[in-house]
Amino acid sequence: MKIIMLGAPGAGKGTQAQMICDKYNIPHISTGDLFRSNIKNGTELGKKAKEYMDKGQLVPDELTVELLLDRVANEDCKDGYVLDGFPRTIPQADVLDKELTKLSDKIDFAIDVEVPDENIVRRMSGRRACLKCGATYHIEHIPPKQEGICDRCGSELVQRDDDKPETVQNRLSVYHEQTQPLIEYYNSKNILKTVDGTKDMNDVFEDIVKILG
Ligand code: ADP
Ligand code: AMP
Repeated sequence: MKIIMLGAPGAGKGTQAQMICDKYNIPHISTGDLFRSNIKNGTELGKKAKEYMDKGQLVPDELTVELLLDRVANEDCKDGYVLDGFPRTIPQADVLDKELTKLSDKIDFAIDVEVPDENIVRRMSGRRACLKCGATYHIEHIPPKQEGICDRCGSELVQRDDDKPETVQNRLSVYHEQTQPLIEYYNSKNILKTVDGTKDMNDVFEDIVKILG
């Protein structure tokens, strides 16, 4: 099963993607996590990506598409995957579509996690992330068992540089301009499913499981 998570930054794509992956035993592929891991390891790609990420802008398509296509070519992706944060532009979606078509393959579902902009700033200011395993928490809504420590791998939790309110506003504008058109793109391919992302995370997941079957 191949799934794309759509939605604004902070809508809960990563949270739901992780739950889907745990249940269906397929990899969770987050281009944001891949960039952050490149930044942490001081790679050339990481250095280039950081310039854009710190400003709340999208990393150019050329860099992002190559990173993603390399990742999905891995053996662990042969039975499917959940894409979280990719595609974010129509050209990215077109490249993915073309690559899959070459393999006589396709995306099964594009799930749009809908959350109004008013809720997003609150969600992102309370987000804490594990840079080692990619798990995400929220200081009020979804706290870790032990403050500042990841439940999954025991590493330290941090606030992401791009979760500061001034960057969040920019990321939201970028989302509306460049990423939201993907909702209509996947609707026209008849694979769009919408869930109410303002519900409790377990209720959102229940709605997603009903869709995936
Ligand atoms: P995205 O991957 O779309 O950027 P995340 O999954 O990282 O979003 O979620 C953003 C923040 O909101 C995190 O702090 C996360 O713990 C929290 N969160 C996710 N889903 C919910 C929910 N249903 N209710 C409240 N908070 C949530
Ligand atoms: P995320 O972790 O998904 O919130 O992504 C964090 C940042 O990484 C984004 O604000 C972008 O700067 C960059 N990024 C992640 N995925 C993409 C993508 N598909 N296209 C362009 N930039 C991306």
